[in-house]
Amino acid sequence: MNSQPFLIHNNSALFLDRDGVINKLRVEDYVKQTSEFELLPELIPALKILRPLFSRIFIVTNQQGIGKGLMIDSIDKIHDHFLSLLPKELQPNKIYHCPHLKEEACVCRKPKPGMALAAKNDYPEILLSHSFMIGDSISDMDFAKNSGMKPIFISKQDNQAYQTYTSILHFAQAFIKV
Ligand SMILES: [Mg+2]
Ligand SMILES: [Zn+2]
Repeated sequence: MNSQPFLIHNNSALFLDRDGVINKLRVEDYVKQTSEFELLPELIPALKILRPLFSRIFIVTNQQGIGKGLMIDSIDKIHDHFLSLLPKELQPNKIYHCPHLKEEACVCRKPKPGMALAAKNDYPEILLSHSFMIGDSISDMDFAKNSGMKPIFISKQDNQAYQTYTSILHFAQAFIKV
């Protein structure tokens, strides 16, 4: 379902899930240390297209491995490593993460909208209703819905419920075509 055109405004923001969108998903596991953080090869070419189009790009990531005490490196160390892999002009504005366990019922774990509301609080000029959320799980799509954002699904299989792309690069290429 790739038919809807994209409308971008100067108060649009782009929200990206982390695992499975910008770095390789570790199935049934977490990125617990920097050596397990594997940037997807599509990310940098995608950001070269998307970064100039959006004045604000955020990463929103559930990291329950922190709450479970599984981390070997701190999340800040892992994210500093990630940022060091990106050229300066492609950096996101901010990375938000939820460290809590699902059972803790916090306000920030996706699909709850807490991390989108935090970004709105930090960058009041953004309009969530003009913003996009790219993710590879249904929880990301529900997060988009709960935040009033447009959901973009990353999957190898087409999904009739969402605009679906095989990678963030595929989305970026479609974005500039319309
Ligand atoms: Mg994901
Ligand atoms: Zn949380």
